[in-house]
Amino acid sequence: MAKCAICEKASLFGRSIAHTRSQVSRRSNRMWKSNVKSVRVKTAEGGTQKMYVCTSCLRAGKVERA
Ligand SMILES: [Zn+2]
Repeated sequence: MAKCAICEKASLFGRSIAHTRSQVSRRSNRMWKSNVKSVRVKTAEGGTQKMYVCTSCLRAGKVERA
């Protein structure tokens, strides 16, 4: 499962409630996937490395893209 290499953000779990809220409660387990991308990142040695980074870390400039 994709997980951010910077902030370790991964999928979240919870329950979804159906739009038709009848007397019989319709709930099911669901999963929210975090927006994690596979990007090539510049390392300290000058090379490039492929790692999973979430889009919020990419936008914050926590990694330098190759
Ligand atoms: Zn992140």
